[in-house]
Amino acid sequence: MVGAPGSGKGTQAERLASYFGVRHLATGEMLREQVRRATPLGRQVQAVLAAGDLVGDELIEDLLYEPFLQASREGGFILDGFPRTLHQAERAFQIALDAGATLHAVVHLDVPPQVLLDRALSRDEGRADDNQATVRHRIEVYEKQTQPLVDYYAGRGILVSVDGLGTPDEVFERILKRLPPV
Ligand code: AMP
Repeated sequence: MVGAPGSGKGTQAERLASYFGVRHLATGEMLREQVRRATPLGRQVQAVLAAGDLVGDELIEDLLYEPFLQASREGGFILDGFPRTLHQAERAFQIALDAGATLHAVVHLDVPPQVLLDRALSRDEGRADDNQATVRHRIEVYEKQTQPLVDYYAGRGILVSVDGLGTPDEVFERILKRLPPV
């Protein structure tokens, strides 16, 4: 899944995972869990998350590697929040090769920036990175670092770009209609 903060990617990723009966691998959630448990890694990334910046590519790739391999062995996964940079996308391809897995489709949720801001500010999940200034910054980080993945995956022929406006049910139906057969 590729989508800006507030695009609904977490909600849709969760639904897709339960629909297909596969694991939902959400890197943001994994990182927040480390922060909650105050692990050494959690303490290392806490300030980066709160500021709305991206943690280092190597760190996230290490964190995801084992769950990714395991989920591949168990029948599949929905990746939510990874890859977020071109470097991570290249690593994702390599890790998938190692695991003998295929990335079938990259779902991009297309939502205009102003809607992103309104949505992100109205949700109340008590996240440290959900205040107005940080949400703006996270949208900028997305535009600069993650948006290029849309072209990258379009070029590889696996992009499914979906209008992310509407209710979660409507968006989910739209995604299902557009996914290639597995
Ligand atoms: P999310 O829940 O996907 O919005 O992610 C929350 C935060 O976790 C992001 O703002 C980043 O600080 C960090 N994060 C999550 N996934 C990644 C990733 N793939 N690469 C770098 N940082 C990430």
